[in-house]
Amino acid sequence: MANKINVTIWNEFTHEKSNAAAKAIYPKGIHACIRDFLADDPDLNITLAALDDPDQGLPDEVLNNTDVLLWWGHMRHGDVDDSLVARIRQRVYARGMGFMPLHSAHHSKPFRSILGTNGDHSWGDCQKTIVWNIFPSHPIAAGVPDYIILEDEEMYGEPFFIPPPDELVFVNWYEFGNIYRSGCCWHRGLGKIFFFQPGHETCRAFHNPGVQRVIRNGIHWCAPTELGTPVPASCRHIREHISEIAPDKY
Ligand code: ZN
Repeated sequence: MANKINVTIWNEFTHEKSNAAAKAIYPKGIHACIRDFLADDPDLNITLAALDDPDQGLPDEVLNNTDVLLWWGHMRHGDVDDSLVARIRQRVYARGMGFMPLHSAHHSKPFRSILGTNGDHSWGDCQKTIVWNIFPSHPIAAGVPDYIILEDEEMYGEPFFIPPPDELVFVNWYEFGNIYRSGCCWHRGLGKIFFFQPGHETCRAFHNPGVQRVIRNGIHWCAPTELGTPVPASCRHIREHISEIAPDKY
């Protein structure tokens, strides 16, 4: 492709420093693990960001050059600045930045703000999980098998309080009987959002080739759509209008 996709992988990066089990599985952090398995994709230009970095990892020069933002957070959602959340939402809505909340990012401020929901769901212990590919023709399912077996993953169950996904690509089955909409796509403004459930910090999901393929596909799907040249007519200000009404009115 002509232009690489600028991907920023944002991680709270707290469990992997304080929890021995998480540190053993993700010694460099979840964000670095994701970067490493994406390293052979020539279309991606990857930046890492963490909550404790200056400007919480996303100063203007990083966020304003990000095409797809991955987000992993859990125990410190409340520490994320509301002003940063507004900037993220603005960039999704008005600039078409893709947003990929992973696992416990269902409770993150950006997820809630962009989708307009609390993101609550039922929850349970880690157990055997099957991620069913229910939309094989979808771009995010490309090359993904009929199902992905995770021997140990945290249970996230229905009801999951989200707006009905525009496209539902994966559904989870859990050993103890629960189900969950685990791969959900939405469109907001000019941007695309893909939520994917696997990724508990003390489980090994990000080392699973099927999960890795889904994340890679998700980034490509979430990348901003190339926009046509505005026509020199009275309606040409549509996109300028979209950018002008944000962020206060969203
Ligand atoms: Zn978890």
